[in-house]
Amino acid sequence: MLLLTPGPTPVPEDIRMAMSEPTIHHRTPEFEEIFGKTRVLLKELFNMPEVLMLASSGTGAMEACVLNLCHAKALTINSGKFGERFGKICESYGKDYTELKQDWDTPASVEDVVDTVKNDDKIDAVFIQVCESAGGLRHPVEDIAKEIKKIRPNIMVIADGITAVGVEKVDTANIDALISGSQKALMLPPGLALIGLSNQAVEIIEKSGVGYYLNLKTELKAQKKNTTAYTAATTLIIGLKAMLEKLHADGFDKLYSDTKKRSFATKRALEALGLKIFPKSPADAMSAVYDEDAAKIRKILKTKYRVNIAGGQDHVKTTLFRINHMGLVHDYETAWTLNAIEMALEEIGRRPYDGTANAVFTKEITK
Ligand SMILES: *Cc1c(COP(=O)(O)O)cnc(C)c1O
Repeated sequence: MLLLTPGPTPVPEDIRMAMSEPTIHHRTPEFEEIFGKTRVLLKELFNMPEVLMLASSGTGAMEACVLNLCHAKALTINSGKFGERFGKICESYGKDYTELKQDWDTPASVEDVVDTVKNDDKIDAVFIQVCESAGGLRHPVEDIAKEIKKIRPNIMVIADGITAVGVEKVDTANIDALISGSQKALMLPPGLALIGLSNQAVEIIEKSGVGYYLNLKTELKAQKKNTTAYTAATTLIIGLKAMLEKLHADGFDKLYSDTKKRSFATKRALEALGLKIFPKSPADAMSAVYDEDAAKIRKILKTKYRVNIAGGQDHVKTTLFRINHMGLVHDYETAWTLNAIEMALEEIGRRPYDGTANAVFTKEITK
């Protein structure tokens, strides 16, 4: 089965091989060297001065940032399931927060965020997704970060880049924490979360770490010395080092431009089939299509063409499908998927098959 969901993504064979070596102990010079090299590569990927690796899924890093970077009141941006999650984390700790909610196809407005921050002195941290994966939506994170830092330079801007890091070059000039996870653009098995940090964020963390396992002060102290506070996810970190070296060899920019091209070509092919791209500001990480027959199309893809694409969640569970572009996806994999979608549309009586999807995709991708 071809796995083309926007997380988890398939793990390339050479990376699986790199992770197949016998387990090494995490308190050894051997592992510390691997850890140190991974830190250097991660800082370059994140384009940030500090970075942390946590043994948890991405949500663990979201929770750690809420705990350690927000000490008064949070502003959370909710255009979908993952933006909603920041609010739920605040709620679970009884942390004061206010939420700016948009429809799932609508990005946050810079003005709304700025006004909310201006009118509420208590807000000391803003939480937002770079790409809200629920609808494949790109928020104007960089503009928001820039504008709110102008009003309140000490405010913390926490960006969930789980479907953006490794997809595109995120401008981190005004971002204090950028979150990533192993199982999306980094093409690793699930279980490792990453956080890029600004110097300002490091200062706040070192002043007052909060929590026990998710205490970033404790982690920072250890990780600066190329070790972890608790048992490191050694195998995943070995895989991460191998993956970053592989991507770095061609240059991260090549990964970004390939992903962008694939994403663009896919969206044009889907539109050529008469399908509707869901978000008003589509991200490169995936193509999300709104369609009343989305569930039917997905089922045909799975059973007849052996392709697994994602559906939607909550109120768009059966009316959305999402095709992954993150990671090292072969063009022929996306082409096959688009062809299968066109075949499915014929099967459900929507339009006769004429090869449009592949013609458009191939033309765009070879430009
Ligand atoms: C997948 C994802 C997460 C969370 O991930 P888990 O690894 O399942 O905890 C958070 N935010 C975004 C935008 C995601 O795509």
